[in-house]
Amino acid sequence: MAKRKNIDARNSSKVQDKRKHVPTEQELFNGIKSGNKARLGQAITLIESARPTDAQKAHQLVERCLSQKSPSVRIGITGVPGVGKSTFVETLGKQLIAIGKKVAVLAVDPTSSKNRGSILGDKTRMTELSRDPNAFVRPSPSGKSLGGVAQKTRETIILCEAAAYDVVLVETVGVGQSETAVHGMVDFFLLLKLSGAGDELQGIKRGIIEMADAIVINKADGDNIKRAKLAEVDFKRALQLYPPKENGWLPVVRSCSAIENTGIKEVWEVIETYLNDAIDAGYLDQKRRNQNKYWLLQTIEERLKIDFFYHQEIKAQLEIVTEKVMRNETSPFRAAEELLQLWRGH
Ligand code: GDP
Repeated sequence: MAKRKNIDARNSSKVQDKRKHVPTEQELFNGIKSGNKARLGQAITLIESARPTDAQKAHQLVERCLSQKSPSVRIGITGVPGVGKSTFVETLGKQLIAIGKKVAVLAVDPTSSKNRGSILGDKTRMTELSRDPNAFVRPSPSGKSLGGVAQKTRETIILCEAAAYDVVLVETVGVGQSETAVHGMVDFFLLLKLSGAGDELQGIKRGIIEMADAIVINKADGDNIKRAKLAEVDFKRALQLYPPKENGWLPVVRSCSAIENTGIKEVWEVIETYLNDAIDAGYLDQKRRNQNKYWLLQTIEERLKIDFFYHQEIKAQLEIVTEKVMRNETSPFRAAEELLQLWRGH
């Protein structure tokens, strides 16, 4: 009995030791480079941390990973809840692993928060894929603003690339502007749809068609095959009304069944064709450079907002000024100008 107690005590102190040890930036970097999934997970947690003391370490890590990252393909996937995104990602992911790729799956879900649950994150997702040694699945970071959530995912992509994941799949539900954010961080953007009754373009958010490089109608199985084929024709016809993309690419329409694994290989072939053309024409490089410019501006905007709104004195003044504005004692414009001036003085 005493022996048992000793073992328990030793084990629990081991657990505590493990918990206490906060990995250094060097340890995280080494772990990422050697393909250690646990270390990669810890590194992402560091990136997602809101603690100012973690920020410096996180920046250094991202910078180091940037200089080390291997070439990868970044694919965005969007579609309404229930369209089959997880199932599609799991099937595609397994297929890519079977041809020798390493696959990372990330999510951008602005509804996700530690307390409120989320549209994407809470289900038990992609169980088979997450267990595969060549796959890494990470739910959406939680955060108050889409800008913040997207920023963290963007940095996570860099870590995954440094860990030699050659395909990064970024999934999002179409909440707020999340598609736009994801579109701005990927090479290829795929819209998953279901076949409905007639008028297929109805219910698609404005702008999403312009963003999609491919529209894939999922659940083309059983009684649904015929309807999916009809929807495919409808979409193709409708897409003819849109001008080609900057690089001359005409969005492609396909159908598939993520559950039965039909049509998925063909979707991957479309993506490969797109990428090969884009690489040959120098378009991919150009697109990524433009995305970097966009992210530079986005990051500055996001940081400025945080600096401003989290500034202790501004916080206090903002409360006072808000009261004044509410009582019509000052105009919102004048009050804003005064607050900004106060902030600039710091
Ligand atoms: P998500 O919310 O977009 O991630 O969708 P899920 O992948 O969770 O799928 C929603 C439901 O649709 C689940 O019950 C899936 O089993 C089902 N589903 C997904 N893909 C297919 C498919 O290709 N065919 C059929 N018949 N059902 C599917």
